[in-house]
Amino acid sequence: MSEVLKLDDKDVKTKKQEANPIKIPELQHRNFRNDEFWKKIPAWSNVSRAEFKDHLWQMKNSIRKVEQVQKVLGKLCTKELMDDLLEGQKITPMNIRITPYIFALIDWENPKDDPLRKQFLPLGSQFLPDHPFYAEDSLGEDTDSPVPMLTHRYPDKVLFLPTTICPVYCSYCTRSRIIGGSTESVDKNTYGANQKKWDDVFEYILRNPLIEDVVISGGDSYMLTPAQLKYIGEGLLNIPHIRRIRYASKGVAIFPQKILTDDAWVQALQEIHDYGRSYGKQVVVHTHFSSPKEITHWTELAMDRLFSMGITVRNQAVLQTGVNDSVDTMVKLTRQLGYLNIQPYYVYLHDMVPGCEHFRTTLREGIELEKAVRGTTAGFNTPTFVCDLPGGGGKRHVASYEYYDEENGISVWKAPYVKPGEVFTYFDPIHKLSPEAQKRWADPKTQKEMINAAIEKVTKRSDKDENQK
Ligand SMILES: *Cc1c(COP(=O)(O)O)cnc(C)c1O
Ligand code: SF4
Repeated sequence: MSEVLKLDDKDVKTKKQEANPIKIPELQHRNFRNDEFWKKIPAWSNVSRAEFKDHLWQMKNSIRKVEQVQKVLGKLCTKELMDDLLEGQKITPMNIRITPYIFALIDWENPKDDPLRKQFLPLGSQFLPDHPFYAEDSLGEDTDSPVPMLTHRYPDKVLFLPTTICPVYCSYCTRSRIIGGSTESVDKNTYGANQKKWDDVFEYILRNPLIEDVVISGGDSYMLTPAQLKYIGEGLLNIPHIRRIRYASKGVAIFPQKILTDDAWVQALQEIHDYGRSYGKQVVVHTHFSSPKEITHWTELAMDRLFSMGITVRNQAVLQTGVNDSVDTMVKLTRQLGYLNIQPYYVYLHDMVPGCEHFRTTLREGIELEKAVRGTTAGFNTPTFVCDLPGGGGKRHVASYEYYDEENGISVWKAPYVKPGEVFTYFDPIHKLSPEAQKRWADPKTQKEMINAAIEKVTKRSDKDENQK
């Protein structure tokens, strides 16, 4: 087994070509902050760089309760902010969990507009009523589940959810129905890591030779112990027809310190990666950066370590209002990730899950952003903008809808390979439509008529194609 390469700040500086301070505006995306930003947080004003780098310190000091926000922030926390956060806790489907790293990157002078605060610390005042067609399991993951913890929708790839815990909890999580424990508003069937059920998953995959590819998600692979990481990795790689596995983790984005200091975990990842490679199989990491604000010199150090181990990292972002819905932000995110050897893979239109209406964009916004981003950097570092269809049609390119009634925010889709013959609908957030369209949505009768009319445009066309055959 090859030894895990250890890097510290000094190594990275000498290894990298010495760059002059970057002044050219076009190159600003290569400037990663390296200040001691956490010292602005009153409770952490004396925390040294070495302490901040320690993954155990990060875990121990993670914010798990809204009251801790006040404790850590002291005078920086206004009563208005606290009241709003407490209101948020009554509505949100997700518990709070934030690493000190992310917490300290929030602009506490203006938390309301901060893209990181928005993702992890919901305010009561931000919530909008859920869309009439939201669903707890919007993607139909439980419907397409042949054994617990597994979704098998596409012929050759499966989604395995071995755990329901994460190092942070995103208030918009697409699996808020199971992830992170019950909240004031939602009772959940949260399960922990359960080896017996994992064996059933291996057994199912073994019996289905079409499957080549396993996404190990959750929850978050960061929360698997080194032994669990290896048990799952080896269990899957030992199945002859498995060619590729990916560990999904938001970790690289929200907790890079673990990659720098949790040597046992990194060693386990390296061992599985090398084990896969010795059989000609891919072991990669998929992560989840949504905002350039999540990227710092710590990210650079963590990525240098993963890259030196030969591990491919790809990114899946979610398109969110006020987080990354401007051209400048999306281009910067894309270029920064590419620069750090993280391949921007997908940008998702927001799923239609509870408590997310304020985050969602229209389909049009997604299409326009894709157009703006394409051409800004290498094609293989350009993310594909997709809509994961409500009801389990799978991921579709944003411009591949069959019909789009933009006025009423209704798009109609097909998924010929995944669910032949079925049509799927995705809806733009109602508050972003014209006042007239909002009125139509308020009336259940016109609502139904609009949707049926849009679907008919597609089904009628399909009938015609059928007749011409
Ligand atoms: C996203 C997803 C996958 C993986 O899809 P890719 O497009 O290959 O990233 C597999 N199974 C399910 C159920 C998924 O939602
Ligand atoms: S890290 Fe992923 S699974 Fe965990 S809360 Fe965030 S979006 Fe959900």
